[in-house]
Amino acid sequence: MATDKDILRARHRERGRAATAQRRARYANNPDAFKAQVAVWQRANAARVRPAHTASQAVYRALKRGLLVRPSRCSLCNRSLPLEAAHSDYTKPLKVIWLCRPCHRWWDHRHPKTRREAAA
Ligand SMILES: [Zn+2]
Repeated sequence: MATDKDILRARHRERGRAATAQRRARYANNPDAFKAQVAVWQRANAARVRPAHTASQAVYRALKRGLLVRPSRCSLCNRSLPLEAAHSDYTKPLKVIWLCRPCHRWWDHRHPKTRREAAA
């Protein structure tokens, strides 16, 4: 028996899928225009994007130097999917937890670090 909450979740998922399909169609239609729009957004939101990018670069370098080791399983769901470094604080770039992509998206949504008002 589907509860109201199940129905709301299904609608939310469906809207997400529709938005993703729309984005992919826009990209397929004109990749250069799409990339240009992304670049404009990134420049306008540099204060939000830059700390995340810097932290991610630090993780990449630390992995190459062997300072960080990527585990084989997600810290949340324990599945062995490709893992991403999740930051709770971009000023501590090597303090990460390792999450699979679905868990990372969920976790970032639950633990927002950069907000519009913080960047302003
Ligand atoms: Zn996971």
